[in-house]
Amino acid sequence: MRLNRLWVKLAAICAGTAAAGVLIAAIILRQTTGTNFSQYLRHVQGMGQMMGGGFGNMMGPNEAQFLGSVNSSLWIAGIIAVIVAGAVAVLFAREITAPIRRLSEAADGVRRGDMSQRVEVKSHDEVGSLSEDFNTMVDSLKDDQDARRKLMSDLAHEMGTPLAVIQSNLEGMLDGVVEATPTNISSLHQEAILLSRLVSDLRTLSQAESGRLNLSLAPVDIGELVESVVTATRPEAARKGIDLSYEGIPSLPRAMMDRDRISQVIANLLSNALRYTSAGGAVRVAVSSEDGKGLAVSVADSGQGISAEDLPHIFDRFYRGAQPKTSRVAGSGIGLAVVKELVEAHKGRVWVESKEGRGSTFHFTVPAA
Ligand code: ADP
Repeated sequence: MRLNRLWVKLAAICAGTAAAGVLIAAIILRQTTGTNFSQYLRHVQGMGQMMGGGFGNMMGPNEAQFLGSVNSSLWIAGIIAVIVAGAVAVLFAREITAPIRRLSEAADGVRRGDMSQRVEVKSHDEVGSLSEDFNTMVDSLKDDQDARRKLMSDLAHEMGTPLAVIQSNLEGMLDGVVEATPTNISSLHQEAILLSRLVSDLRTLSQAESGRLNLSLAPVDIGELVESVVTATRPEAARKGIDLSYEGIPSLPRAMMDRDRISQVIANLLSNALRYTSAGGAVRVAVSSEDGKGLAVSVADSGQGISAEDLPHIFDRFYRGAQPKTSRVAGSGIGLAVVKELVEAHKGRVWVESKEGRGSTFHFTVPAA
């Protein structure tokens, strides 16, 4: 038995307290019994003298035996009380510390990587709430572990697919099976662009999540910035047969933001709008001032829209909803997660309005300078 166990300490405290109580009671009783008995004997002796007789010294062997037996009864009762108190203390102390022992065993299991460990919450006291907190902590550790595993397998898949395409095509070209025509090379180039965009999005996402996203905040003319991203995207829109337009409002207040990060947000939203809209459709970008709340940018498309089922998840990492039928390559599912992290890092808000088959409008806000 280890003496530094909590239940041993609790039992020792209870038994010690009981023993001290009994000892004090025994001393007081012994003292008062002796004094009271002597007084009683003096009273009886006085009565005898008044009646003309004499009882001599009243504290004879019988009286001394009586006092001795009272004393030994007191000691026996005291010892029995201490033994009983000790036994009861051990039982209660073990009962009280049992949930703490279970918690410690479960924590040890979690340390060894067993995330199925949970403890039963049997009381509503401090130990019960500690058990509840422990269970919640293990739940969130398990969620993190699952998310990390999913992230690893998603990443392997996302990077593996374009790399395999590039590798097999290059091997085909080396073997002379695939012709190195500008079209084939351009398709490989597209795959490489996709990979490098994925890597840069992942870097942004991991920086944002670990709080290392350093923003270079400065007052920026957001209308001019949006217009420049729209202008850079026009050739792609024209290639896809989509009408891309920008509506700005003159003399907008400046926004307090990191120019490069917000252009990444606009570029991601525009790239999605073009990706999920078919030829003949339209994409409208607008900037407005929200009274006292900052500036708002919207990107509206007349594309495929988002189903009610996908809508709550599209800003989640690696969530891919319905993909455009015209696209050969599936999206990575992190474009909007990056948008959300970047906008929220600016203390802004991002949201979407969408109806399946009718198009989508993404909005985001940034604070005014
Ligand atoms: P992806 O690389 O798949 O486009 P995103 O994170 O950018 O990843 O978007 C997540 C999902 O949101 C997409 O898979 C798609 O289903 C949906 N989505 C995003 N933008 C649009 C849009 N403009 N129109 C329709 N659906 C969209």
